[in-house]
Amino acid sequence: MTVQTRLSSTLSFDIATIPTGLFIGGTWREGAGGDPIDVYDPSTGQVIAKVANASIDDAMDAVTAAHKAAKGWAATAPRKRSEILRRCFELMVEHKDMLAELISLENGKALGDAHGEVSYAAEFFRWFSEEAVRLNGEISTAPSGANKIIVQHQPIGVAVLVTPWNFPAAMATRKIAPALAAGCTCVLKPATETPLTAFALAALYSEAGVPDGVVNVIATARSGPTVSAMLNDPRVRKLSFTGSTEVGRVLLREAANTVVSCSMELGGNAPFIVFDDADLDAAIEGAMIAKMRNGGEACTAANRFYVQSGIASTFSQKLVERMGSMNVGVGYDCSTQCGPLINQAAVDRIRALVEDAKVRGAKVLAGGSGLDRSGYFFEPTVLSDVSPLSNITSEEIFGPIAAITTFETEDEVIDLANGTEYGLISYVYTKDLARGLRVSERMDSGMVGLNRGIVSDPAAPFGGTKQSGLGREGAHHGILEFCEPKYIAVSW
Ligand code: NAD
Repeated sequence: MTVQTRLSSTLSFDIATIPTGLFIGGTWREGAGGDPIDVYDPSTGQVIAKVANASIDDAMDAVTAAHKAAKGWAATAPRKRSEILRRCFELMVEHKDMLAELISLENGKALGDAHGEVSYAAEFFRWFSEEAVRLNGEISTAPSGANKIIVQHQPIGVAVLVTPWNFPAAMATRKIAPALAAGCTCVLKPATETPLTAFALAALYSEAGVPDGVVNVIATARSGPTVSAMLNDPRVRKLSFTGSTEVGRVLLREAANTVVSCSMELGGNAPFIVFDDADLDAAIEGAMIAKMRNGGEACTAANRFYVQSGIASTFSQKLVERMGSMNVGVGYDCSTQCGPLINQAAVDRIRALVEDAKVRGAKVLAGGSGLDRSGYFFEPTVLSDVSPLSNITSEEIFGPIAAITTFETEDEVIDLANGTEYGLISYVYTKDLARGLRVSERMDSGMVGLNRGIVSDPAAPFGGTKQSGLGREGAHHGILEFCEPKYIAVSW
């Protein structure tokens, strides 16, 4: 492991140019929720900005602005909406360097990962600009022959969007783009840790021609009461949430009061299965992406490595070489491959998971501790002989730890892989395509990476089974989450 240091003074943009107010009805304003919110650079632990803190009244103003804009936006021609979304895509691409540095600055992720996020995030605008003009309905004859059945997809109404800190741009655009394509207006509440990217993007939407009130962005230090107040307002008809399963459960209960439609993208605990016959180099390459993209802070991150006994020691050795030689350092330094975690609590949580695994018999093959420097760092770590009873196999790690367990048979590994309340994604490596497809079908997860360490694609339905969520984002499915089918029975 090599340790890099560099400070934010070397960024190509001035942080003071990023808006820090609430964006409501097309104007920027102060928040009435109390002291401004400190935003930290996880690479140094220093405060880099203070942003407006929304009160419940501010949130209600945002809902009012979205509600006022709703009729006009829903009536805007799909082609016009499509062209505005396309312009959002183009502006994000034009500003990709600034956006990537900003993401890295407030989230900590390595600049390469941040660039990847900006491209992915921008693609949602391109994809949904294309979907906006293809929201086709259906027409059929009733089986009795008595009438025709017309089904039209109408915008569901004002949407509240709540996003996490681990992808400050992509989790927002994955919701905003389909909402706008469907003809909905929205209020985005980004994570308190990473509001700057959301505000920088709001300025770009405005420049792209998104009308005032169609997208509103508020940050708040009191997420619970603020989101709850919005969900209890009958003008809000949609909640699209990405975050932990724990908070997802709370919000599902809240949404029950007004029977708000919910799309939930929640936590993951991905198994990464390597069979003896896998292409070892491909499996290592895939493992590095599935584990280390975003420094392991991804819902899709490989959480449990299950490696068949014949290949286990070679796989572990090669993974140790790759993990052990990563450049760890300040996220926005170009040579960094693994940045800091989001905060000190994340470092402490991961340390406790490693200690618990060790007590239950795991061996530390690489890394295993935090770094003695400012910022929130943990070494890329490889553990072998991890007991299935360890907390690290049942909880989301959300950090740079690869936990390896050996298995013997296909049935055994399928039981191990599916033995979790989560069902977001699974990874399977084998050269035998029949086995790969058979095992993929038996994975109790919404997505499978078969001989691939990354699956995210705006053109594909992203989402989980079990307690990893409800609904899908991206693909054609993504726009339907923001639509209500209208059935018209007609005789002519
Ligand atoms: P989190 O659940 O703590 O927070 C998510 C969002 O909810 C933030 O905006 C937060 O401010 C807000 N929030 C927190 N408590 C709230 C409450 N009581 N009421 C309303 N809003 C509340 O999650 P996080 O720590 O920001 O993100 C990490 C989690 O997100 C992980 O579990 C990860 O797996 C998950 N995630 C899932 C996906 C997916 O697509 N399935 C993608 C990214 C992240």
